[in-house]
Formats: sequence, structure tokens, C-alpha cells
Amino acid sequence: MDLQQFQDTEFPVPTELQSNVAITSLSKLYNWGRRNSMWPMLFGLACCAIEMIATASSRFDLSRFGMEVMRATPRQADLMIVSGTVTKKMIVPIVRLYNQMPEPKYVLAMGACASGGGPFKEGYNVVSGIDKYIPVDVYVPGCPPTPQALLYGLIALQKKIDGQSLANMDDVPWYGVGPSEPTPVPILGPDIIDPRQMHIIRQQAERAAQGLPAGVRELPAIPQPEKKKVPAKTGQGAAAADGEMDPAKAERLRKREAALARKRAREAAKKQQGEG
Ligand code: SF4
Repeated sequence: MDLQQFQDTEFPVPTELQSNVAITSLSKLYNWGRRNSMWPMLFGLACCAIEMIATASSRFDLSRFGMEVMRATPRQADLMIVSGTVTKKMIVPIVRLYNQMPEPKYVLAMGACASGGGPFKEGYNVVSGIDKYIPVDVYVPGCPPTPQALLYGLIALQKKIDGQSLANMDDVPWYGVGPSEPTPVPILGPDIIDPRQMHIIRQQAERAAQGLPAGVRELPAIPQPEKKKVPAKTGQGAAAADGEMDPAKAERLRKREAALARKRAREAAKKQQGEG
């Protein structure tokens, strides 16, 4: 163990003792223990999970971070790596698993899908970001992120832990009074329902029952261009000059009828000359 990382400049230790003695704060020691023994939960959702598995292989070696022990139960895990597309069907067990993890716990959203829906964001069955349901500590962008990117995200998480202090209750809320509140588990029906939004859903249902615009995603009506009325005409062109007809088409019909009338007049004149 390298004691240099614990040395506090406020309390200098003589150089000859620095390899054996360190004066440090309890927070620093506590954070050191947590950051180097983070156990991720063993689960993957889609293609990003393959990159996460590769990160654990010998080429990249998660053991350097004390993270090689992927646990198959949330009760022994400190870190949830959400790696892949989160469907509405899967968000329910994900939140349940998150609630079963003991504090302190962290969440890393790996890839575009877990961070914001990714290429399937508009899909009817896809959640547009895991952070809509559980708090995320680190986002790793990419589709998929490389193992190096995931390692960078894990280092960012370690830095975040280094910055936490036992003296600040906002950093360590799990030492507060009483048990922490679980995150409400979404309900899967015809669509996913977040119990935290129940009052909004109720309001929308009441508005819909009254025939008022109810949905937040309801689009305003598209304004239709006014139809121009073609002035009515007498004679042969009258039928073509119907007010409901496209003006260009009405003009074409009028010209054709005029040409037909001229042709009939020429034919009638020829016939008369022949009889004479
Ligand atoms: S971000 Fe890309 S690679 Fe990762 S799960 Fe989504 S589609 Fe697959």
C-alpha cells in the first residue's frame, strides 16, 4: 500500500517516516476503502453489455480498480452498470434491483441507450434514459462505448467518491436518521406508469373526460391554407369554373372546351359548303 496517497499537507510527516506513517482524515481513509472495492452488479441489457464483458477481460482488467468481483445479487453490489437499451418491461425489475442494493450505491449509465434512449428513443417500448427513474452518477456516451470509455467512466466515479466527505450529510445521506425511502417501482400496464407522476396522470384524465386537450405531447392543429374561389363563368366554361376546383385545372378545362367549340364550328361550316 502506498501511504503517500494519504499524506495530508496540513500535517507534514518527516521524510524518513513517510513510508511507515501517514496522518490523514477519516473521510480520506473511508473513501479510499470504497473506491477500491466497488463491486458491480452482474447484468447486461443489450449490445453495450458485450463491451462491459470485454472490459472485465484480461486485456483491460477491471481488477486494477478492485471491481472484478461482479456480483449476481444486488445485496452484495455497490455499483449498477446499466449497459444497454432499457425497455419499459425491463425498467420495473431494474428499479426493484436498485432498491435491493444496500447504501452506499452508485449507478453508471453506459451508452446512448441507457443515457437517453439512443437510436431507439422514439420506440414505443423504450425508456428514454434510465435517469428518469433512478439517480445516475456517471454517464458514458457512445454506441457502444469502448472498454476504454467505460474504464474512464469508472475512474470518473472514483474521483466523485474521493470528493465525498463524512462531514457533509449531502454526500453520505445513508448515515442519516432512519431508513432511506425506496425509489417507487414503475407499474407496467398498456404503458409504463411512474407512481411519482400519478397526480399529473390524474389531471390529464380529468381534462380528457371533459373533452379538453389533455396530453402534454398533444400537438396544436395544423393551420390549413384557405381555398381560393374561382369566379363563376357563363356559357360552356361555366361547369369548369366551379368554385371548388383548382384554378389551374379550371383554366385548362375552359381552354379545351373553347378549342372543341371552334373545331365543331369549323366542321359545321365545311358541311354547309359541301351541301351548297
Ligand atoms: S447504445 Fe448502441 S450499442 Fe449500446 S445498447 Fe444502445 S444500440 Fe446497443
